[in-house]
Amino acid sequence: MVMAFGTPGRDPEVLRPRDPAEACRMKAALGAEGVFVAGGTLLRTQWESGAAKMPGALIDLTALPALDGIAEEAGALVIGPLVRLSDLVRSEPVAAGFPLLAEAVRRIGAPSIRNLATIGGNVASRTGDALTALLVYDAELIWRTERRTETMRLEDWLADPGAGEGFRLLAGIRLKRAGAAAGGRAGRIAGGFRKLGRREAFIPALVTVAVLGRLTEDGTLAGVRVAAGGGSAVPSRLRAAEAVIEGARVSPETLVRLGEAVAGEYRPASDAFAGAEYRRRAAANLIAAEWFTLCAPDRKEGEHDPDP
Ligand SMILES: Cc1cc2nc3c(=O)[nH]c(=O)nc-3n(C[C@H](O)[C@H](O)[C@H](O)COP(=O)(O)OP(=O)(O)OC[C@H]3O[C@@H](n4cnc5c(N)ncnc54)[C@H](O)[C@@H]3O)c2cc1C
Repeated sequence: MVMAFGTPGRDPEVLRPRDPAEACRMKAALGAEGVFVAGGTLLRTQWESGAAKMPGALIDLTALPALDGIAEEAGALVIGPLVRLSDLVRSEPVAAGFPLLAEAVRRIGAPSIRNLATIGGNVASRTGDALTALLVYDAELIWRTERRTETMRLEDWLADPGAGEGFRLLAGIRLKRAGAAAGGRAGRIAGGFRKLGRREAFIPALVTVAVLGRLTEDGTLAGVRVAAGGGSAVPSRLRAAEAVIEGARVSPETLVRLGEAVAGEYRPASDAFAGAEYRRRAAANLIAAEWFTLCAPDRKEGEHDPDP
């Protein structure tokens, strides 16, 4: 069935689907002329700056309860894409199980932005500041098309969004509790998130880093995860950097090798705010500093220093 919605060049038509399947149907019929809108905070800046053109139709997702809320599933937390960033920061299950996500989201924009902006819009943008935290938790994305639901690891989607990308609706973000307890051995979980901007707050990230692992009783690290992003770079896990400290004790020598691995592996992009080399060095220093702090002998479980 071919549906006709929206006319290019005019004020966009606002479409209000009744359920996710209808939202997908509208998107499939409109192609690039129909855009999913959640909080609209990112889209608005893109339209105003000319980075994206105003489409013929806006597919308003905000009245779809199936995409909202935070639900406990067996061994996992499923976050609806419509959950506002401010609600995510206040969520007890998120704070208890996934504190790096709460911290990353708390550092996005300002309260007025976080009251409108959604986690789905942040993820779908592919450059949002929440992504590095979600990467170290090995988050899964639940996607919907008109007829089916598909689950994909966030890391895989960021590496290759796939041919059908533009036609999919993000329907959930699954965080497995087993994934949060990285390493599966005795010891304490150590994790941190850092955002570097040109000023302390209310500023786009030059670099974001997130690290997670388990400091075992013999002083070595297990289940190490390291991710970096920021600016227009699509965030990624840094596997070579992870391999440097997996099973190792944090020492000045390990941290030097870790920094070199990050600088060799991370591929940021230059923009008007900072060059790629600066971002690479900053990511290396932040990651090494974070592990140094996390492995300090007097550090307690769950403690992390939010400010860079
Ligand atoms: C002043 C200001 C400061 C900001 N600061 C930051 C910051 O510090 N860090 C940061 O990361 N971002 C920042 N942003 C960008 C933005 O606010 C966030 O990325 C926000 O989370 C986007 O969510 P949204 O609901 O507003 O997305 P929208 O603008 O509604 O959508 C963003 C993109 O996601 C798509 N989309 C939305 N929902 C879905 C879905 N369910 N399925 C598929 N696609 C979907 C849209 O089509 C669009 O392409 C800032 C924006 C402003 C205006």
